[in-house]
Amino acid sequence: MTESTGPLTDPAGLAAALRFDPESGFAGVDPHSTPGFDGKKSDGRSAQDADAPLIRSAQECLHANALAPDGARRALVLVLQGRDAAGKGGVVRHLSGTVGPHGLQTTAFGVPTDEEASHHFLWRVQRRIPPWGRIAVFDRSHYEDILAVRMHELAPRSVWEPRYETITEFEEGLVLNGIDVVKIMLTVSQDEQAERLRERIVIPEKAWKHSASDLEDRLRWHEYSEAFEDVLHRTDSDSAPWYVVPSDRKWYARWAVGRILLHHLEAMDLAFPPADFDRDAALAALEDSARTIAAD
Ligand code: AMP
Ligand code: MG
Repeated sequence: MTESTGPLTDPAGLAAALRFDPESGFAGVDPHSTPGFDGKKSDGRSAQDADAPLIRSAQECLHANALAPDGARRALVLVLQGRDAAGKGGVVRHLSGTVGPHGLQTTAFGVPTDEEASHHFLWRVQRRIPPWGRIAVFDRSHYEDILAVRMHELAPRSVWEPRYETITEFEEGLVLNGIDVVKIMLTVSQDEQAERLRERIVIPEKAWKHSASDLEDRLRWHEYSEAFEDVLHRTDSDSAPWYVVPSDRKWYARWAVGRILLHHLEAMDLAFPPADFDRDAALAALEDSARTIAAD
């Protein structure tokens, strides 16, 4: 029996291992693999638990900076894309549980509402750009304005084709101005997707997630793969990088996305701002307060 060792790499190492590689492409990532992790589900859970306080603290540091007059003004947008049932929702749940509602704002981008559709496609995204100190997680994103529009022929190619460039420039503008953009493509195998879609059909508590269109999209597996490849190849950059995360094992995907997030927060190289008050005076006031309350 082999010993499980858990995480094999630090956050920077894992991020490097999962970074989109144009040579091997989206197709080159095995959805069932667990790069940088040697272990089983229970080890994965422990690894998630071990990273949680680090992620929390890194976000608090971001927030503390945002509050300090001379602090850094930084924020981060985490984009999640992937096929139906790839596990985007589960990752969002995991991250919200880890960071908490004060530090993390989540948005699921569905079919545009009438109001959204009456604006430029980035309008609804702009409105969900986080304030300084906060992390935004997007469950689907502006990339649907290429992917869904292309796959469902909602508009001609002349409409979605320029969007690769528009999106690249939009993200570049965010990054130049202090908002990191981190993009994750979850990849799930055909068999695992089938199993998850099957559960939605047979388990009553999951029936609400079933959608006939998911099955239609599944039939176009290879066309979707090509559309994902195009997005990754044409919108990956060092400033707004794509990662491809194997997601057949939910615990791995959750741990890996958390660690990529941690890597980017650590790479900001922020420190908690120094106290801007007189420590001795504050301590004295605290002690006085005890006496005052006791005498009351
Ligand atoms: P779900 O993520 O399962 O809630 O599904 C959301 C649906 O909304 C998916 O089928 C997406 O393809 C679709 N969707 C999201 N954004 C857009 C968009 N900009 N244009 C058209 N469809 C979209
Ligand atoms: Mg769908």
